[in-house]
Amino acid sequence: MDFDLEWTPEQIEFQAEVRGWLANHVPKLKDHADPAALTADEYALQRKLGRELGAKGWLYPAMPSEYGGGGLDLGMSMIIEEELDLYHLATPPYYDTGGRLGSASIMVWGTDEQKQYFLPKILRGEIRTWQLLSEPESGSDLASVATSAVRDGDDYLINGTKIYVGSNHGAEYSWMIVKTDPNGDRHKNLSWFMMPMGLPGITVEPMDLLLVGGERGAASGVKNTVYFDNVRIPASHLIGGENNGWEVAGTHLEIEHGLLRSAVRSDEMLDRVMNYARTTTRRGLPLTDDPDVQDSLVDFYINSQVTRLLHFRNFAYRAQGKQLTYEGSQAYLHQKRSALSKARSILEVMGPRALVSDPEWAAENGHIEVHQRASIVEQHPGGTAEIQRVIIARRLGIGREKREQPGQLPSAENQGN
Ligand SMILES: Cc1cc2nc3c(=O)[nH]c(=O)nc-3n(C[C@H](O)[C@H](O)[C@H](O)COP(=O)(O)OP(=O)(O)OC[C@H]3O[C@@H](n4cnc5c(N)ncnc54)[C@H](O)[C@@H]3O)c2cc1C
Repeated sequence: MDFDLEWTPEQIEFQAEVRGWLANHVPKLKDHADPAALTADEYALQRKLGRELGAKGWLYPAMPSEYGGGGLDLGMSMIIEEELDLYHLATPPYYDTGGRLGSASIMVWGTDEQKQYFLPKILRGEIRTWQLLSEPESGSDLASVATSAVRDGDDYLINGTKIYVGSNHGAEYSWMIVKTDPNGDRHKNLSWFMMPMGLPGITVEPMDLLLVGGERGAASGVKNTVYFDNVRIPASHLIGGENNGWEVAGTHLEIEHGLLRSAVRSDEMLDRVMNYARTTTRRGLPLTDDPDVQDSLVDFYINSQVTRLLHFRNFAYRAQGKQLTYEGSQAYLHQKRSALSKARSILEVMGPRALVSDPEWAAENGHIEVHQRASIVEQHPGGTAEIQRVIIARRLGIGREKREQPGQLPSAENQGN
């Protein structure tokens, strides 16, 4: 079966336009293996590119144009993604959870006024947002969050701690779920806020972790603990109504659990490993002549393609408005599992060189060593592999009488992911 796409003459014309525009606008950035090394100046250049893409509607091309998206169809959106991919970038070209995740919740649950207020800022790249869900005692069991919001006149007062969140270089906004009814039933006691990060009482402290890498433009680099000490936020920033936060979170969690990746990303690491194997000799012969190396590279390639095609399927289904249930978690589970298998294949091909960061020895400019660590880290964000299995079982109706229903997504023409 051939999964390659053939573009129409109109699409080829658009592709040329995008390619020409990107050639004049994508800044030349250093090829950092570790996203934590991104400097403030480089981050500023990424944000500038984001705003320029946003002004053209190309930052979130499939989002509705009335809210600052491009209003483009699936094909045009994929062309933009493919062209950015050639620069090892994606939309957005920096870590921002607002455009694909938070905006979906606002689209489904926000009032008209809230949509007009928040969405254009996000979709045009004027602000970037973090997602603040996890807490010291609340990870997989997200419904158990303890950070509290207490109504006080026209405001709420927020107190609590979020961990493993955000990135380096700060954010203008975050969204978060908090407990608004300490005595309420589970899932009916939470609320969802858009939080301006400059409010008094918010402290952001970078976490001293081994590594939090990720993929290219979307990589976060650093994670933080964020403390809220009597933070006063206007009630107008509550989205979806008081004690309805679990439903609101269901929208972006649905996307994060496997519907997030665009379909077109190539596997940069596959190219790097292939390059290494072709250009490195052992006992006078290229590594690619060794049957064991060939085996490992084929395993790597298959894992990479299966992940890509599962995401591709989900991307296309969503564009057609098809109801998805377990498919997102299925793709995400495969992505997480295959990250470990691919790391094993790399180790088989390269041996200890895959694990050294010393510039004199590190292969592919340090990217391989960072990838090996990131493959372990990847098991956690967005729900662990075990949690994806739990979701798949519930959605298939395994061990329960009724199948679990997915969170509510924006309509097919408004989803833009
Ligand atoms: C790199 C990285 C980025 C992150 N980014 C963010 C972010 O931007 N925002 C944010 O809010 N959070 C973020 N997180 C936190 C992430 O969402 C949590 O780490 C994750 O949900 C797991 O929670 P936990 O670490 O508390 O582990 P726990 O929930 O304590 O789980 C511990 C172990 O128990 C297993 N387990 C738990 N429950 C079950 C169950 N029901 N069935 C089977 N096994 C189970 C888990 O799979 C895991 O192996 C990030 C984490 C990492 C590592």
